Amino acid sequence: MLDQPARTDNELDAWDRDHFFHPSTHMGQHARGETPNRIIAGGEGVYIVDRDGKKSLDAFAGLYCVNVGYGRKSITDAIAEQAAKLPYYHAYVGHGSEPSIRLAKMVVERAPKGMSRVFFGLSGSDANETNLKLVWYYNNVLKRPEKKKIISRWRGYHGSGVMTGSLTGLSAFHNLFDLPKAPVLHTEAPYYYRRADRSMSEERFSQHCADKLEELIQAEGPETIAAFIGEPVLGTGGIVPPPTGYWAKIQAVLRKYDILLIADEVVTGFGRLGSMFGSDHYGIEPDLITIAKGLTSAYAPLSGVIVSEKFWRVLEQGSDEYGPIGHGWTYSSHPLCAAAGVANLELVDELDLVRNAGEVGAYFNAALKDTVGGHRHVGEVRGEGLLAAVECVRDKDGRVFFDASQKVGPRIAAALLEQGVIARAMPQGDILGFAPPLCLTRQEADQVVDATRRAVEAVTSAL
Ligand code: PLP
Repeated sequence: MLDQPARTDNELDAWDRDHFFHPSTHMGQHARGETPNRIIAGGEGVYIVDRDGKKSLDAFAGLYCVNVGYGRKSITDAIAEQAAKLPYYHAYVGHGSEPSIRLAKMVVERAPKGMSRVFFGLSGSDANETNLKLVWYYNNVLKRPEKKKIISRWRGYHGSGVMTGSLTGLSAFHNLFDLPKAPVLHTEAPYYYRRADRSMSEERFSQHCADKLEELIQAEGPETIAAFIGEPVLGTGGIVPPPTGYWAKIQAVLRKYDILLIADEVVTGFGRLGSMFGSDHYGIEPDLITIAKGLTSAYAPLSGVIVSEKFWRVLEQGSDEYGPIGHGWTYSSHPLCAAAGVANLELVDELDLVRNAGEVGAYFNAALKDTVGGHRHVGEVRGEGLLAAVECVRDKDGRVFFDASQKVGPRIAAALLEQGVIARAMPQGDILGFAPPLCLTRQEADQVVDATRRAVEAVTSAL
C-alpha cells in the first residue's frame, strides 16, 4: 500500500479548501490556500504516506491514538467480519452484541483493582461528559444536591465539548467560546519546570499543589466539591509527568473531603506509559476512569468510562429508587468499534506492546535527553514510557520562554516533517511532543532522535 501514491490531481485540494471545516485549524488561511494541507492516503507500521507518496514516521501516532501502528489486518478483518454479520444494534434497555460484551470484560480484567463496569461512548470528550453526569447523579442519589463542583487543573485536557472544554485548562479551548462554565474550577498545574519558585524541590512543589487544591476546596466549601479530574501525565497541556509524590498528596486531600477522583486515561490507558494504566503506574485509586484512543488504537471511534465497584453500587441504588438511567448515545458500544477494540487489545497482548512501550520508551527518552537536552535552547526534555516532550526556551539559565509570535515550536515541528518525522507542536508553549505507536523499535527511536537534533539546530540557529 505504501508503494502506491494516491491520485495527485488538484481536485481534492479545491474540495478541501471549499467544503471541509477542519478541527483546530486556522480557518481563513486554510480556505484561502495560504497554509499547506496534507491528504493522508495510507499507513503501515509506524509510517504514514500522503497522496503524493511522501512517507513519514508518525512519532505522534495520529493524535496519540494509533497505539498498535497502522495496517493491522487482524483489526481490519474483525471490523469487516462484524460489519457483514451485524453492523449495528443499540445497547439500550439491556441489549448488546457479542463484541461489546467481550470488550467490557476485557477492559475490566485489565483495569486497576476495584473497577467494576464499563459504559461505552465514542470519544474522549463524550466519555468525560458522561463522567460529569454520573458524578452529579451519584451525589443526587446520596442526597447531597449541593456537592456538584468539579475541580480540574490548568493545562489539563479533557475534551472540547461545552463541559469538557470547560474542564480543559487551555486558553485556546476557552477563548471566544464563553468557557469555562460553572461549576468547573481550575487549580495549579503540576508543571515543575514552570513553577514560580525555582528554589522549591520537586517533592515540595507537589505539596504546594496539594495545598493549593486544599485552599480552593476550603474557599468554595468542601460540601460543594464533587470531584477532581486529572490525567496521570498532563498530555496536551505539555506532556508533563507528575512531580515526585504528587498523586499521593493530591489523593490525601481528596479523601479528607470525600471528593471523587476521575482519572482521565484517554492517552495513558492501555500501555502508553509501560503499564496497562497510568493509575497503576502512579498508585492512583480512581472512582472513574476515562478511556478512548488506545482502546481501539483509533481503528474505530470508541471511548468508555470505567466505574468502580463503590460507585456502581450507588448507581444501582439510583435505578432501584428512580428507574432506568436516562443517559446513553445511539452509538454506545457500536458493534464495529467493539470488534475493533477486542482485536486491538488481543494484539496489544500478543505483541507484548505494554512491555515494549516501557523498554523502548526508556531508551527513547534517554536518547532524546542525551542528544538534545544540553542544547542552549532546550530547557527541558521530559517523558514517561512512550510519551516525551522537548521544551524550547530563549534563555536556558534564566528560564525565559520565546514569544509565542515567533512560533518556535511549530517551526521545529515543520523542520522535523521535512526530514520525514511527525512530532506535534503542543498548543501552549514551544513544546515538541512525541507519542509514537507502542510498537516503535530502537532503530525507529534513533531516527526520531536524530531528526529532532537536526530540526532543533536548524530552527534555533536561524533565530
Ligand atoms: N482526555 C484526554 C486526556 C485527551 O487527551 C483527549 C484528546 O486528546 C480527550 C480527553 C478528548 O478526546 P476526544 O478528542 O476523543 O474527544
